[in-house]
Amino acid sequence: EMNQRVVERLRLESELRLALQLDQLELHYQPQVEIGSGRITGFEALLRWNHPELGMVSPVDFIPLAEETRLILPIGAWVLKEACRQNRHWQDQGLPPMVVAVNLSALQFQENDLVAMVSAALMTSGLAPRWLELEITESVIMQEPERMVGILEELKCLGVRLSIDDFGTGYSSLSYLKRFPIDKIKIDRSFIRDVVSSQGDAAIVRMVIAMAGELERKVIAEGVETNEQLDFLRLHQCHEFQGFLCSRPVPARRVPELLAAGAEAI
Ligand code: C2E
Ligand code: MG
Ligand code: MG
Repeated sequence: EMNQRVVERLRLESELRLALQLDQLELHYQPQVEIGSGRITGFEALLRWNHPELGMVSPVDFIPLAEETRLILPIGAWVLKEACRQNRHWQDQGLPPMVVAVNLSALQFQENDLVAMVSAALMTSGLAPRWLELEITESVIMQEPERMVGILEELKCLGVRLSIDDFGTGYSSLSYLKRFPIDKIKIDRSFIRDVVSSQGDAAIVRMVIAMAGELERKVIAEGVETNEQLDFLRLHQCHEFQGFLCSRPVPARRVPELLAAGAEAI
């Protein structure tokens, strides 16, 4: 059985190696909605692997492999370029300008050329930096916080926005949290799931919203699926939400219709 697993892994690895060249990777986009106005303010770009036999493979299933093999470096560079290109294209088509958020992996911060790469993706696409957001997970940010402050400041100097992803699942040092030049905190889905029924989760979510307010950061809730969850977030003045309640991640071609329909539907 172990042999079988090793063979499968090797196969997936060699296929992933070719996925970029064969154009099998694509980005799907999930709206982020301002709770007060119901307006879509941006989208998160989420990677999908369109595998010829396996169908759409979720990033949960191949990003760990991409990280182990360092393939995440060329893949991550492609994601950045593609998200910037697509966002600029939407603007050129006359859609209202919006922020597109891109996820970064830990390995991308270990390379020295991250800032240059982001800058190149902006230049090549002609996208103004304010329309690009970079998401960094709390656990990655807290691995080497001192070094991170420096890199994040350099990124911030480019004019892009920064957010902390999966907030609440890592071990944030509050003193660093204040020093990181981040614009937005994303409350992890695991706290939103039972926010209506669990007093503990409700307390954590209220606390993160209050803390973000004190630190003058924006706050967004991930994984909102029900109207009750949204009511809770509205009551406690969370700025934005993202989740199936508004929409699942969709292919780029469906973004214009989502924008046209607006979030008024919910
Ligand atoms: P994430 O950045 O926290 O992204 C949010 C995940 O939650 C997405 O899963 C999204 O589809 C899912 N989600 C959104 N709303 C709901 C909801 O209401 N209910 C539920 N149950 N799920 C919801 P996805 O697309 O499978 O991505 C998983 C993770 O893979 C992402 O978590 C991110 O860490 C990583 N990832 C995705 N794309 C990239 C990428 O381009 N680069 C890197 N480095 N990581 C990526
Ligand atoms: Mg994310
Ligand atoms: Mg997240």
